[in-house]
Amino acid sequence: METIDGISTGRIDRLFADIEAFVDPAFDGWTRTVFSPAYKAERSWMVEEFKRAGLEDVHTDDFGNIVGILPGRHSTAKPIVLGSHTDTVERGGRFDGIVGVLGALEVAQRIKESGSVLNRPLMVIDFFGEEANPFGLTCLGSRALAGSLTVKDLERVSPEGKRLGDAMQSFGLDPSRAVSGKHPVRGSWHAYLELHIEQSSTLDQTGCNIGVVSATAGIKRLVGRYMGQYDHAGGARMKSRKDALLAAASSALALHEFACGSPEYAVATTTHIDSLQLAQNVVPGRSELRAELRSTDSAWFGAIEKDLALRLSMRATEFGCELDLEWSLDNEIAHTDATLQETIAAASTILGLSWTAVPSGATHDSVHMTGIAPMGMIFIPSIDGRSHCPEEFTPKKDIINGIAVLEKSVRLVDESRP
Ligand SMILES: [Zn+2]
Repeated sequence: METIDGISTGRIDRLFADIEAFVDPAFDGWTRTVFSPAYKAERSWMVEEFKRAGLEDVHTDDFGNIVGILPGRHSTAKPIVLGSHTDTVERGGRFDGIVGVLGALEVAQRIKESGSVLNRPLMVIDFFGEEANPFGLTCLGSRALAGSLTVKDLERVSPEGKRLGDAMQSFGLDPSRAVSGKHPVRGSWHAYLELHIEQSSTLDQTGCNIGVVSATAGIKRLVGRYMGQYDHAGGARMKSRKDALLAAASSALALHEFACGSPEYAVATTTHIDSLQLAQNVVPGRSELRAELRSTDSAWFGAIEKDLALRLSMRATEFGCELDLEWSLDNEIAHTDATLQETIAAASTILGLSWTAVPSGATHDSVHMTGIAPMGMIFIPSIDGRSHCPEEFTPKKDIINGIAVLEKSVRLVDESRP
C-alpha cells in the first residue's frame, strides 16, 4: 500500500512489527528500558536495520548512540542529522521516539532509492537511553554526545545501589570514553531534525496533521521542606496547630493555580507530599513536597523562583509553618530554529498537510542538539494526547505524513542552505 508522496507502508509495517519483539515480558505494554536485555537485543537488531536502509559507516559511538551516514555529493559538507530514540519507559508505548528513528531510516532509504544524491551527508542517530532511568538522568546518549555528561554523573547511584558508570560498563560501553569522547563542536552540523509524536492533545483535538515545534519547555524542580509543630491529634485545638502537611497540600494547590494563570504554555505538577510520619494520632510537624514546573515562556520561567518563594511562603505562614525551598534546573527552554520552523511548515504545505505551531512540554534528545546545530522538530498526533503508557497510539496515516514531511524538510534544507 502506498500513501502520501508514494511512501510504502509495507516497509514501515515490517519495522514496527520487528521492533515490537524486543520487549521485557515482565511488564504490560511495550517495555524496553535502557540497560535491559530487551534494549541490548534491540540495539543489535537496529545496527543491522541501519545497514539494511543503505546507511554507511554504521557504528555505535563512544556515547552508546547508533550512527549511520548516507553520503552526499560533497563529503566534507556539514551533515544534516536526523535522530530520536528507541528505549521506552516501563509499561511504555510503541511510538515515542521509535517513530523518529524508523522514520529517519525510511527517509534515508527513500532518498537513496530515488537516485538523487543530496548535496550534504545525511546522518541518522538512534540515541542511547533517552527516557528517565533509576539514575535520575535522561537523554544519556544525546547528553554525552553534546559533551554534557560529567564524571560526577557517572557516580549517580540507583535506588538498588548501582553506579551509572557501572551500568554503562555492564552494557558494553566505556564510561570514561562517554565523558571524554570526541564531541561535535558547535556549528559542525548543518541542521538537526527530529520527528516525534506530540505526547499531548493539540493536534488530535484540532485535527491538524503536523505540529511545527516552537520550543521545548524548560524544566525546574522544587523540593519544599515545611517545619511546623508536632502535637497530639486529639488535644491540639484547630486554631493552635502548625500542621506542616496542610501547608504542603495548600502549596500544591498554589502551584496548580500559578501554572493555570500563566499566559503561555506552562505546567506545574506536584508529584510527592510526605508527612514523614506514620502515626495517625500526631499532627504532622514536618513535611516535604516535590514538584516540577515546565514552560516555554522565558519571562515566566525565569521568574519562577522569585514568584513562588512569595506564594508558597504565604501558604506556609497561613498554617503557622516555616518553609525551606530547594530548586534545581533540569534543562533550560530549548528554542527551535526559526528557519527550520519555516522549512517544516513549507514542507507540510507542499504536501497538502495542515500544520500549526506547538510547544513541546516533554524533553527530547533535540534539546541537547541545540548546542551543536540549528534544531527543528516535527510532531504528529497522539490520540487523546496519551503517551508513556500502553494506550499510546498514532495512526499509520499520521506516521506516513510525518515521514513525508521529514523527507521534504531534509530536501528543502539540503537545497536552500548551501
Ligand atoms: Zn521520546
